[in-house]
Amino acid sequence: MAREKFDPAMAINDMQAISPEMGVNVNINDSATFCFPKGQLMTDTFHGETEGYFLYSRHWNPSNMALCKALAAMEGTEAAWCTGSGMAAITCTLMELAKAGDHIIASQTVYGGTFAFLKNYIVKYGVEVTFVDTTNLEEVKAACKPNTKVIYTETMSNPLLRISNIGELRKIADSANAKLVVDNTFTPMVFSPYKLGAHIVVYSMTKYVNGKNDCVAGAICADAEFINSLIDVNNGTAMLLGPVLDSFRSTSILKNLYDLHIRMKKHSENAMYLAKRFNEIGIKANYPGLEEHIDHKLMKEQYNEQFGYGGMIAIDLGTADRANAFMEKMQEKGVGYLAVSLGYFRTLFSCSGKSTSSEVPEDVQKKMGMSEGLVRYSVGLDNDMEMTFQKIEEALKELGFIK
Ligand SMILES: *Cc1c(COP(=O)(O)O)cnc(C)c1O
Repeated sequence: MAREKFDPAMAINDMQAISPEMGVNVNINDSATFCFPKGQLMTDTFHGETEGYFLYSRHWNPSNMALCKALAAMEGTEAAWCTGSGMAAITCTLMELAKAGDHIIASQTVYGGTFAFLKNYIVKYGVEVTFVDTTNLEEVKAACKPNTKVIYTETMSNPLLRISNIGELRKIADSANAKLVVDNTFTPMVFSPYKLGAHIVVYSMTKYVNGKNDCVAGAICADAEFINSLIDVNNGTAMLLGPVLDSFRSTSILKNLYDLHIRMKKHSENAMYLAKRFNEIGIKANYPGLEEHIDHKLMKEQYNEQFGYGGMIAIDLGTADRANAFMEKMQEKGVGYLAVSLGYFRTLFSCSGKSTSSEVPEDVQKKMGMSEGLVRYSVGLDNDMEMTFQKIEEALKELGFIK
């Protein structure tokens, strides 16, 4: 399938967002409720029949609307809605799509919180979930049932950085009459999942999209029909569960969105550098930018080339004890921080099996090829990556892991 050329960065750049007082940044709208010049207008707004009027901030407010317009532009969707966390975006989307008696097919390697929600939580409400290897299309097809409503995956999986074939998954979703939902948290701009075939794209904006590690936030990008159903005053999951993002935060995230493309390029450049240097000293790096990565070719078929292969890499040190000693040493030397999460301007590292993937049972971890000594890096924006690498190499030498 020929893909239209899409530039998510220019889509954001082209948005003019002048405030009513001619400020170049969108105002923080500090109101929970909004007034109407006429009573009838309030009634019409309740029924979703007006434009430019706001009812109540849990539903919409001008600051969140400005951010959501930019997010929709970035994804190429008609609409978007922003939430107080990535988990809120994911859980609201899934609960909007699946009710008691329905079935969800999900990737077995999804984010730990998503895995726990699907495995332990949504099943309490009568929704059935099957976990599969979504990189194995036959397995996904075989899992489809008449009541399948959702196929859920991540564009780039954690921590092994496997890539989903979004176009093929969409075909399977269509033939099952289900929606394809894709979490693109690891790879904003690098992939445009909606353009590749996803029905709905969800984000934890806590990570790359905001990029400052100063807040937790999420987003849902989709067609207007789905977004409107989410915030329907009588029936919408987001409206009724109420995980709205605060205006102060949405305004600050919007400003960070405008330099996301520069950050993604630098994260990718630094991660590629680090991956190559690890390989040179005989430590196998797992990075989709390397030709030997199992999904390198698939990534090249789908990615927006100019943003690179993303900022995540993983190396395997065999045991959790070795991984911990190494991470402590790197923190001492100022390589970055021993912390979970990703998409920050400093390098973050964690041992996946014992942290971010600890919700995933050990047998599944084994099945997906995850070692307990796996160290995952979210590579930072360091101007001189060679200097950082030298600190990493010193740490490895001092621990006797390399000569
Ligand atoms: C962090 C993360 C989430 C959850 O987002 P929060 O903002 O922490 O609620 C979901 N998916 C992925 C891939 C993540 O990395």
